[in-house]
Amino acid sequence: MKAVVFEQFGTPPSLQNVADPTPSPDGVVVKVEATGLCRSDWHGWMGHDPDITLPHVPGHELAGTVQAIGGRVRNWKIGDRVTVPFVAGCDHCFECNSGNHQVCEHQFQPGFSAWGSFAEYVALDFADTNLVRLPEELDFATAAALGCRFVTSFRAVVDQGRTRPGEWVAVHGCGGVGLSAIMIATAMGANVVAVDLTDEKLEFARQMGAVATVNASQTENVVRAVKQITKGGAHVSIDALGHPVTCFNSISNLRRRGRHVQVGLMLGDHAKAQVPMSKIIAFELEILGSHGMQAFRYGAMMEMIATGKLSPQKLVGRKISLAEAPAALMAMDRFGGLGISVVTSF
Ligand SMILES: [Zn+2]
Ligand SMILES: [Zn+2]
Repeated sequence: MKAVVFEQFGTPPSLQNVADPTPSPDGVVVKVEATGLCRSDWHGWMGHDPDITLPHVPGHELAGTVQAIGGRVRNWKIGDRVTVPFVAGCDHCFECNSGNHQVCEHQFQPGFSAWGSFAEYVALDFADTNLVRLPEELDFATAAALGCRFVTSFRAVVDQGRTRPGEWVAVHGCGGVGLSAIMIATAMGANVVAVDLTDEKLEFARQMGAVATVNASQTENVVRAVKQITKGGAHVSIDALGHPVTCFNSISNLRRRGRHVQVGLMLGDHAKAQVPMSKIIAFELEILGSHGMQAFRYGAMMEMIATGKLSPQKLVGRKISLAEAPAALMAMDRFGGLGISVVTSF
């Protein structure tokens, strides 16, 4: 099969011919029909993820059709249209047994702990627990866009942030995660203030439902600006980018007893960000992470997509070919383009 491979961290990946994958006893092989480009892939390529062994094939936001099935798989058959959360739980550890597959102790992550979906085929482990059936009306490119950023944002806004109607939600960073969070928080009945560095991205944020915006490149004090708009501070604030500055601002612009949710990854130089701990105590703030979402929680989200309350297809930006993926991957830290780029031809 064709796959995008990198032999060393930080050196240009290339399109190569490699052996087709075979399914594990509990796994399947999926023919990839669409796979999204995510900043996590860039982090992996840069060597920020200790799970990755070389040579490596990135890609973790995928949708496709089941092509081959392991001997112990019961719930799936060849030809089924599926997607999968980027963290697949083992279904046997303490966390999985408590319903928290997103933090499984033995998690399978395509594109990190194993070869991923920048390829014609990808092997997925723990299939019965983690595959999600796609409704007929959901196209592959949109389904691929769900697998990482959209579901992580859904968990951040709904399950971790516990966003309620009428609350103010601040979203720092209007890339794929941020735009997803804006759309989901708006659907939950919250008022969203979006923060980014360009008017172009903030205009897109308004189209996704943001009722107010702050251009951080033209604002001396982002925290004060968010507090003014929200009349005292956000109830929920999300760092959708993953940067010491946005993390600090997101915590600092909360009102008393507010909830900060960290979704953007903090890796490499940013792994140890400063947090205003005295304020966390005095204001009784909550600091939460969001890391994927369990496959069994997709149902609620899929219903909101089916009824049109959520429209993830609006987040799909550029559609590219697998041959274009290496260059696009290397450019992922430059924040160009609107929405989520998806590989749709292989
Ligand atoms: Zn991702
Ligand atoms: Zn587990």
